[in-house]
Formats: sequence, structure tokens, C-alpha cells
Amino acid sequence: MSWDHAQGLADKHSNSNNGLFVRLANDRDKVVGVFVGEPFARETHWTGERYEECIGTGCSYCKEGKRPNLRVLMNFYLPVEKELKIIEGGTIWFKDLLKARDKYGLTTWMFEVERHGDSGNAKTTYSLLPEEKLSAEQIKEIGALKLHDLAKSVSGGSDFNTYDKGETIEARTASQFVSRLKALPREAVDVFLEKFGISRVREVKASQEQVANTFIERLEAKYCHTQAESKGEVDPFA
Ligand SMILES: [Zn+2]
Repeated sequence: MSWDHAQGLADKHSNSNNGLFVRLANDRDKVVGVFVGEPFARETHWTGERYEECIGTGCSYCKEGKRPNLRVLMNFYLPVEKELKIIEGGTIWFKDLLKARDKYGLTTWMFEVERHGDSGNAKTTYSLLPEEKLSAEQIKEIGALKLHDLAKSVSGGSDFNTYDKGETIEARTASQFVSRLKALPREAVDVFLEKFGISRVREVKASQEQVANTFIERLEAKYCHTQAESKGEVDPFA
């Protein structure tokens, strides 16, 4: 990675608190923007700590019987902030995007993406609605953008996600967090990573250790509760 490229990324990060990826962390969180360029699709496996690329033939996760998930990335321009970000979604989200593309065209419309589902809800969905037609000026603005290299943005996540250095938590703490999170559904882990804007559990900042700990406790409470409910069990101590 060249110094200029690194400098560019560092500037981008200091200009935005949320990093490069659009994050909709809570129910009803929404964002309005323009999908730009080509999608980058990949099949991934959730390892309990991060998404690993499925390499197809010979993939060790597939051999263990784990099914890969589709993840699709797109460049996403925020007209108000005049900022180019990356948005990522799963299969259903991408099918909606294809429909929007057929019906409206992605190059002439801005869309609103809204989250439906509380933080931690495994059934969270995202709606996609046309917001407004782009003006000729906006189309020109977007045409001049230098798009993010989507493949690079997920290759280990390192180019983008480790920029905000700061001390990270100790390895021992990280592995404790990992084993607690591994006991929860994958969605809970996604929520955790989203919350802290990281792609690996060990990237939690030392300064946020307490916050992270409390957050995991909340997830544990939430998911244990949900599991008991779905089994129709009665908690005799409730
Ligand atoms: Zn695989």
C-alpha cells in the first residue's frame, strides 16, 4: 500500500466517525444515497469471529458442512455529506437492489435504505425505496468520483479497518469475548462488530473494554431470553 493511498484513507477516517462502511446499527436507522458502479459479490463463512471467504472447491468450512452466505458490496454515495462509502448486504437485500435497478435505474435515482429490526434481532431486514431523482449536476458529480476498490476493502479488512489504531484489548480478554460471543447466534456477533465498527473481535479498543463487556452481557441476556421463549419454557425464577 502506497503512502499516498494510506494518507488518503487516513484523511477519510478522520473526516468520518463511522469509517468507510455504511452502518445501520439500530431499528429504523436509515441512509439515503446512490448506488454506484458494479457490485462485488463474495461467498463467506462466519467463523464465529469474522467472515472468511469461501474458496469453493476444497473449502474447509464447506467440508465441515457449513453453508456459505452471499455478501454483496456496492459503492454508495451520500449526496448530502458528499461522501463515498461502501454498503454491504445479503441475498434478500441484493434481490431488492436488482428490482430497484430494473424499475428505476441506479444511475438516475437515490434510494433510502432502512433497517427493520432492533440491534440483536436475527430477523432484521432492510427496505429499499426510491427517494428522489438525481439532478444533472449530481449525476455529473457522481461520474467524477473515484470508486473504492471493493475487493480490497474486504481482503482481510486490514486496509480500511485497522487505521483507527489506538491500543486494542489484550489477547486474553479478546479470547474471553470470542468464546462468549461464539455461544450466541451469529447475528449477535454481527451486531457486536457493527456496534464497535470492527471486523474482528480482537480489534476492540482497550478504552472500550468495559463498554464491550456490558454490551456482550446485554446480548447474552437478550438471546438467552429469546431461546427460552421460543422453546416455550417457563423460567421458574422469573
Ligand atoms: Zn466454503
